[in-house]
Amino acid sequence: MVCSVLLAADKRQTENLILVTADGLRWQEVFRGIDPALMNAKEAGMENAGELRTKLWAESPEQRRRLLLPFVWGEIARQGTLLGNRDKGNSVRVANGYRVSYPGYSEILTGRAQDAAIQGNKPIQNPTETVLEFLRRQWRLRPEQAALFGSWEVFHAIGERRPGSIAINAGFRALEGANLSPRLRELSNMQFELLTPWRSVRHDYITMEMALDYLKTKRPRVMYVALGETDDWAHDRRYDRVLETASYFDQCLRRLWETLQSMPEYRGKTTMLVTTDHGRGHTLADWHGHGDDVEGAEYIWIGAIGPDTPAAGEITAAEENFQRDIAPTLLDLAGLDYREYEGVQGTPLRALRKD
Ligand SMILES: [Zn+2]
Repeated sequence: MVCSVLLAADKRQTENLILVTADGLRWQEVFRGIDPALMNAKEAGMENAGELRTKLWAESPEQRRRLLLPFVWGEIARQGTLLGNRDKGNSVRVANGYRVSYPGYSEILTGRAQDAAIQGNKPIQNPTETVLEFLRRQWRLRPEQAALFGSWEVFHAIGERRPGSIAINAGFRALEGANLSPRLRELSNMQFELLTPWRSVRHDYITMEMALDYLKTKRPRVMYVALGETDDWAHDRRYDRVLETASYFDQCLRRLWETLQSMPEYRGKTTMLVTTDHGRGHTLADWHGHGDDVEGAEYIWIGAIGPDTPAAGEITAAEENFQRDIAPTLLDLAGLDYREYEGVQGTPLRALRKD
């Protein structure tokens, strides 16, 4: 047993990890594309969205999802693995009891549900060392080599137990640090002039462009990009904008992946894992919301692409996977023994790793 774990770790090629999330992006959009139950509804903000509807509509879910998320279905499904299509018997669910953002992100980043300590979205400092901090410690990285860029300001609390142990920039907050590129300084200034409808969530464009430039100029070994607009537009009942920001998320994945493959530091030795913090409702009456009282909001999805993940595509095996399995999966793909991460409750997802 011990020997096989060591051998598996020995064979791993992943030297860098990129995690990307799209807040509250439903498994329904990921696996079915535009939702026929919402796409004509005035109360979902679709009354003037005829052009978008035409662009994204096709008869089968397989065609529709390709139109909405061409990188996910063209590249991740071809070279990597996707979990969570409930239509085909597979599922991923959150283990925490809340089905809201902080508990979900914390479950992703710590490999456990912390239902007593984290009950909602209040910005309390994460009481547990996150997998980003653990990786930094295991790989002996400088704080700036483990970075988190988030659209939502609460990531300053979610991302680390010990403030300053990794590099975090999230919400409407000036980017700090030595030797920032002109582009990073420009983006940092721009965010305050390019306001969103929400006080605690900046534009995903700022978050993504900062992450891309940071990748090119600072070359982190671990980077987490947390996009947020998919959730906020849903709460505002703007399905048109949800679709557009989901499309933008897909474009971001393509740009990140192509940038990684163009740099010798990353090419062939970087794994990118993509997922979400929670699901949402599934009817016209409740699609915009989520939480412990919304049926189905516990279901999420996970995708991965990289040298240690098989090209298995969409998994149709009848099995239940958990959000808490993500952190141990990242550690396993990086060739580390996830059991050394104290208190971890999840286990590495078999479908996402080669033996
Ligand atoms: Zn939300």
